[in-house]
Amino acid sequence: MIIAANFKTNHTRESTANYLEALSLFLDAYPADCDIRAYPAASSLLKADLYPHVKLGAQNFYPALNGAYTGEIGAQHLNEFGIKTVLIGHSERRTILKETQDFIAKKYAFARSNGWEIIYCIGEPREVRESGSVMEYLWAEFEGIDINYEKLSVAYEPIWAIGTGVSAQIQEIAEVLDALKAKLKNIPLLYGGSVNTENLREILSLKSCGGALVGNAALDAANFCKLIQIAQNVRK
Ligand code: PEP
Repeated sequence: MIIAANFKTNHTRESTANYLEALSLFLDAYPADCDIRAYPAASSLLKADLYPHVKLGAQNFYPALNGAYTGEIGAQHLNEFGIKTVLIGHSERRTILKETQDFIAKKYAFARSNGWEIIYCIGEPREVRESGSVMEYLWAEFEGIDINYEKLSVAYEPIWAIGTGVSAQIQEIAEVLDALKAKLKNIPLLYGGSVNTENLREILSLKSCGGALVGNAALDAANFCKLIQIAQNVRK
């Protein structure tokens, strides 16, 4: 089970360090058999080996070792921190930062060539959900993506549920995760979109669900610890 916190553009270097200290103390006291990950802002990255119970990851990178890509960070920068897991395809990068499927596929191939663990995010906007062509839309987001990569996890994050405080209905999540599972087989499938302490247990109990990617509800370290505790108690 993967429980991942996406900090987005929140938490400074100092508050990230405080957060990770608190999380590490919690995990020292209550060891979790989950794969716990945190994706801080680029300027708040810290040495990954400082926190043995938490995998520190990058929300973004440019698919190059280094070079003339103003404002971006490359593999060299992630390597300096020992970062070995990345998010790719998050809807905020697809929509706000205008990342195309072609560019996302390049990032994916680059991450794969570096052997990084990838959480690959997919999700439909509300109008697609209303039109009924959800799976068609989601499969198109796999264009150029090698689904045979052994370090791949996929996060289904309906755009209309992200940051809204209103998660998708449990039946909607189950239908999409089951359809993904039928094709993606053993690839861990996460759900993201307004996950919180009230709905996590039910979501993780779905047979095709292998974890959660959490934004808002993970911004507070104590709350993230509660989510981890809930995940620990879900029996599959
Ligand atoms: C996310 O952006 O990955 C996310 C799931 O955010 P939230 O939990 O705030 O909906």
